[in-house]
Amino acid sequence: MARVALKALEIYKMLPKKNCKECGYPTCLTFAMKLAAGKADADSCPYLDEATKQLLRGATRPPIQLVKLGVGERQVPVGDEIVLFRHEKAFYHPPGIFFSVSDLWEGERIRAVAERIMGEVFPRVGENLRWNGLAVRNESGDPAAFGRAVAAVEEVAEYPEVLVSGSPGALAAGLAQCGNYRPVIHAATPENHGEVAALAKRFGCPLVVRAGDLAGLAGLAKACTDLGAPNILLDPAPAHLGEFLARSTDIRRKALDRSDPDLGHPVYLDATAFVPEEAGIVTGILKYAGVIVTSVLSPGTARMALTLRQNIYTDPQKPIQMTPGLYRVGEPGPASPVLATVNFSLTYFTLLGYLEASRIPCHLLIVDTEGFSVLTAVAAGKLSERLIKDSLDRYQVGEQVKHRILVIPGYAAPLSGRIEETTGWKVLVGPRDAADIGEFLEREWVAKGPAAP
Ligand code: SF4
Repeated sequence: MARVALKALEIYKMLPKKNCKECGYPTCLTFAMKLAAGKADADSCPYLDEATKQLLRGATRPPIQLVKLGVGERQVPVGDEIVLFRHEKAFYHPPGIFFSVSDLWEGERIRAVAERIMGEVFPRVGENLRWNGLAVRNESGDPAAFGRAVAAVEEVAEYPEVLVSGSPGALAAGLAQCGNYRPVIHAATPENHGEVAALAKRFGCPLVVRAGDLAGLAGLAKACTDLGAPNILLDPAPAHLGEFLARSTDIRRKALDRSDPDLGHPVYLDATAFVPEEAGIVTGILKYAGVIVTSVLSPGTARMALTLRQNIYTDPQKPIQMTPGLYRVGEPGPASPVLATVNFSLTYFTLLGYLEASRIPCHLLIVDTEGFSVLTAVAAGKLSERLIKDSLDRYQVGEQVKHRILVIPGYAAPLSGRIEETTGWKVLVGPRDAADIGEFLEREWVAKGPAAP
């Protein structure tokens, strides 16, 4: 917020201050605030000369460019980040993770990996986590072999690809197979950037530029942009992980403070270059990579990478939430228990797992605590007897069961008396740990007969 206000002041100084409202805002200051927040456009003020508009466009464009990888449903947007540290606001665009295959492999082996990427889904706290695409490496040095490898991927893939080769001839052979799908081209170097940038321009593809120092990277990014490459990514060519960490952090810092706008592009990381590779993947996710190329990961490493990415790219000020409502677990009937809990996603999915394992059908009432966990919601007053009453009424829970007994979480025990008074339902205080819910229901519900408590 402070950052936006400072930028608004800077912009305000450039405006003519006629207070004519022709921009659609009541004052120049409001207009400046909207510009700074990216919600207005410099062209809306008719009194600005072209030079000032250019300055404003520079000051208001995102510090890190948004780059869209691939086309269609599985397109991956990366970049367009606005903070150095996640707690300052949030990280918005998770890095695309690409398994890599080699053009030295048999077509069948390449297709098997391509199919795995198409089909593999890891459901976690309400989201379906997936791989983003495939990187094809030109390890043969042969353009024809590279073209065949890309064609093998194309038979299966409906997701973004990265074409990895230093040879413009090989890249052209690969692009001939998949250029319409805007694969990422890796990489333009000081030696080949003229030809490679021309390919990126011709096929409209994002282009990775690769150099071992930031001045070289910024220079190549500018040169390729000037040659017509539509989108740029930066490969800082790290020799070891520490070097990646230092360079990637420097790039983010310089892009955000706009001290070097030519570094305002997403970062590319080849994690296969590090031992152990997992360290590279983790560092890439935590430290600003927009594209991470990996080997074909084992299921354990795969889950680790996707889980970490999901956790880092959630808004720290906005817990992952479930939609409030009445959910059925199994095939509950009128004598089945009703359990109430909060709409913090992790609470819901943890509890759901244990309830399903117990094989006791039940009704699960999720109340809107703005995503807070039980303990926090009770402490912050987000979970109250009033909310429980309103939720019971709104979701017509009484119409689903014959009894009037509500199981509440153990940590909500201080509210039990007030809930009984306000709702008229008898309250059973459940366990504090969701892992004990099965045993609790067996003892307090099943053993005592239908709706016995
Ligand atoms: Fe100010 Fe320009 Fe808006 Fe007029 S059109 S109020 S001069 S910003």
